[in-house]
Amino acid sequence: MDGTRDPQVEPVVRLEGVSRVYGGARNRVAALDGVSLGLGAGSFTAVMGPSGSGKSTFLHCAAGLDRPTSGTVRLDGVDLASLRERALTRFRRERIGFVFQAFNLLPALNVVDNVTLPLRLAGTRPARAVVDEVLEQVGLSGKRGSRPGELSGGQQQRVAIARALVTRPAVIYADEPTGALDTRTAAEVLTLLRQSVDAVGQTLVMVTHDPVAASYADRVVFLADGRLVGGLEQPTVQQVTARMQELGTWGDPFAGRSAGHGVRR
Ligand code: ADP
Repeated sequence: MDGTRDPQVEPVVRLEGVSRVYGGARNRVAALDGVSLGLGAGSFTAVMGPSGSGKSTFLHCAAGLDRPTSGTVRLDGVDLASLRERALTRFRRERIGFVFQAFNLLPALNVVDNVTLPLRLAGTRPARAVVDEVLEQVGLSGKRGSRPGELSGGQQQRVAIARALVTRPAVIYADEPTGALDTRTAAEVLTLLRQSVDAVGQTLVMVTHDPVAASYADRVVFLADGRLVGGLEQPTVQQVTARMQELGTWGDPFAGRSAGHGVRR
């Protein structure tokens, strides 16, 4: 089901034995510890785990924002370790979309200019038809000239999603995309992310601590202490909640950090 064992179908994202170690001999922390995972085209995967379990490190390594200590990350068939810094930056701009909890829009730019920024950074002239299409897709056709400050939180996140979609990336990484939104707005944003997978076959990876958000995904993978400790296909909120409870506390960052370091007493 995860596309990792079918030789015919190379997954869009492929991690093989990925470890990321911080610190030295005395304070060594394996933030990721031998993670292998394949994510097929058009799949929607949620990554969950207690605080300190390695979710951010996973996202950073999978997106080429950080280099693993060992192991390989292949994205769209390219071994990220084979790219020097400048080529990696270009590759990220062209092949990866990002959606963040805090939207990360430029306040001085209107909707169209925010959405087309990645294209312009990549030196491409945005095609009006493509921009119109993504704005239509996220329901913001009527807001082309608005600045972020004139939009609601949900609308701002939809601008960020349009910005991620506009380069037609191989994969979109979303880091707690609904963390700053109320429940109803979060549901709208999650529905939109789900539609981008269903309608245009977008491959999507979302880090979240919210079982409701995770239930929109096709699959949830769970991290604990930097290791993959299981997964759920077609997850329900109840299943995800139960699994998270087994893995230890979440929501309380202090308790989570203790669990992440394995020093719970
Ligand atoms: P999560 O996103 O699940 O909260 P992280 O990936 O941020 O987890 O962190 C995983 C582990 O790696 C934690 O124990 C954290 O303290 C440690 N860690 C993360 N980044 C660094 C860093 N730059 N230096 C040292 N330790 C780090």
